[in-house]
Amino acid sequence: MFRPHLLFPLFGKLENLKGIGSKSIFNLHKLGIFKPLDFLYSFPTSLKIRKHLEIVNDFNENETVILKIRVIKHNFKNFKGPISIEVTDGFNKINLIFFNAKNDWIKRNLPINQERFVSGKLQKYMDNFQIIHPDYIETINDLDKIPEIEPIYSLTKGISQKVFFNCVNQILQLLPKSINSYEWVCKKRLNAMNWTDHASSLKRIHAPKTINDISLNSNFRLRLAYDELLSHQLSLLIARNFSKKNKKKRRISTHRISTLIRKKLPFSLTKSQELCIAEIQSDLSKTDRMYRLIQGDVGSGKTLVALFAMILVAENRGQSALMVPTDILANQHFFNFLQYTKDAGINTVLLTGKMKTKEKKETLEIIKSGKADLIIGTHALFQKGVLFKKLELVIIDEQHKFGVKQRHDLIQKGENLDILVMTATPIPRTLELANYGDMDISKIIDKPLNRKKIDTSIISEKKIDKLISRLFEICNNGAQAYWVCPLIEDGEKSELVAIEKRLSILNKFLPNIKIETLHGKMSEEQKSYIMTSFMAGSIQILLATTVIEVGIDVPNANVIIIEAAERFGLAQLHQLRGRVGRGEKKSNCILIYSKNVSDQGKERLEVLRKFDNGFDIAEKDLLMRGGGNPIGPQQSGIPKFKIANLEFDKDLLYYAHEDASEIIKNNKNLKSKDGENIRILLHLMNRDKSLSLLETG
Ligand code: ADP
Ligand code: MG
Repeated sequence: MFRPHLLFPLFGKLENLKGIGSKSIFNLHKLGIFKPLDFLYSFPTSLKIRKHLEIVNDFNENETVILKIRVIKHNFKNFKGPISIEVTDGFNKINLIFFNAKNDWIKRNLPINQERFVSGKLQKYMDNFQIIHPDYIETINDLDKIPEIEPIYSLTKGISQKVFFNCVNQILQLLPKSINSYEWVCKKRLNAMNWTDHASSLKRIHAPKTINDISLNSNFRLRLAYDELLSHQLSLLIARNFSKKNKKKRRISTHRISTLIRKKLPFSLTKSQELCIAEIQSDLSKTDRMYRLIQGDVGSGKTLVALFAMILVAENRGQSALMVPTDILANQHFFNFLQYTKDAGINTVLLTGKMKTKEKKETLEIIKSGKADLIIGTHALFQKGVLFKKLELVIIDEQHKFGVKQRHDLIQKGENLDILVMTATPIPRTLELANYGDMDISKIIDKPLNRKKIDTSIISEKKIDKLISRLFEICNNGAQAYWVCPLIEDGEKSELVAIEKRLSILNKFLPNIKIETLHGKMSEEQKSYIMTSFMAGSIQILLATTVIEVGIDVPNANVIIIEAAERFGLAQLHQLRGRVGRGEKKSNCILIYSKNVSDQGKERLEVLRKFDNGFDIAEKDLLMRGGGNPIGPQQSGIPKFKIANLEFDKDLLYYAHEDASEIIKNNKNLKSKDGENIRILLHLMNRDKSLSLLETG
């Protein structure tokens, strides 16, 4: 999009700034500064305060001071050593020390018997006051050239504070005067927050009067952080509107097949499930593309929501694909869907990367010919060789295992594609807006009625023997259990060793109990065979790695034992625990901690014992980990902000979201004067790419 003329100077070349050469440019790039404007959005992190002193004294040692002095004597050296200039404040002798100065320069700037203002850090050396390298030496008339308060930036080697400060001031001059006639923050917000305009806020931050001006709470910083968040939310909404521009056909649901499947269900759907399905149906019946996130705790029944979405599309003869993170889960969903769809005239197929060549070829053919209605698979679904006849809906299960990029790639796949993503990871609202601000969100808040609370206990590994003998009784009473082996950092090989070791112990103490192992190294067929047997009840204890973490659903299994539980993240433990408590039987989760566990580690496990809701657990997890890395690896892909601080600026993010929605609702293509104001903001915040998604003319 063409940049408005008035902003040209802010996007000019760095070379044009006074004091900037090619070497500095290299260093500025390291600071993320590529154009003059970038200086303005790099805020000072602290202040240097210069204190006016009449005469020096011990109290002010190590402070930065401004002094009026008279030059007494030049002590030039013949050899290479510091030059020391003797001066007086009228009462005390002070030495000004220079290491690399030329004699001529000294004579010019500090002539004998003349008065000057100097500034620098006051020090004491062998009973004498001294200032090493005064940072300002000014004549009596130029006192105001020495700033009493100077912002300090966090910089890199090769860029001095002075050079940086000078650049900032040059660029503040380049800020077009007319910029203030483009206020993009709405009046209501501006007044409620008592904010000043954009230019004045920037100027104040770079010429702070007190430390408050540059603090997180500074009203000047808040305004600019809001600007950044507003531009971000606007760009999400613009992209979203654009994705809706390719109109798709309305799908009028016949309910012919979905009614049939409803009858087959051994239970009725929960209120939340019904609500989600209704929301999806409404999306499908519109000409705008669907872009919806379904959030529901582990065990809340997301799979059936996906099934109904796919059926609604199939009733209109469209194909839909369900993508899951593991082969085991793909298999499980496939067989689950098969039982509902096979005599309903719906063709369900499975496609994974590890399928045999012949089988895969056949499946690809069925997908291409359009004979397959529901296609379930891993990321293999979106490899080059897979051609769909009429793909209309894509669902991603366990989205947090895939990352944001894959989601964004998908939306570009087919012009008329509807997209549904499902996740069990509770997302705090801040991250929800920052990460999914462009999506509609449905939440499954209630669990199936028949669920009982899972009993969670925490035991020491010293008590494993006791646990094993109890397990013997439980299994003899018909229960099935998962036994999760410790998470081992150095890879699958040692994980295997751990599994084998545990297996031989369990076999020894539990003779007549059928125990099998499940791990990532097994072939597809082996895994699928083991899972089917476990599902059918012919295996009683499944000794597994975290391959069972996501999605696995065996309602009869009602005990899960997790070894060295302290090594897992809380969210992960919650997911693992969610493998039980899926049927009518009372379930137990036993967390075993190792003998070398820390107190803090045990405390974390306590959280799991006390809370059974994924959202509470995520919040506690956040608190316990502190502010250091609140987001965690699963949430990577979060946009980086230059000014805004997502933890501190939560409220601003909500405001920005609210205001951006209002702006786009009233002025979708950013027309007229109000629209022009917003366009200026998007240019300033480097989000002008989204402008190309707007309708022109
Ligand atoms: P998740 O949300 O973790 O993906 P699933 O879709 O795997 O949960 O569902 C968990 C279990 O609950 C499955 O066994 C499923 O058949 C069962 N289930 C789903 N919906 C209901 C319901 N409305 N009533 C009873 N059981 C249900
Ligand atoms: Mg699931």
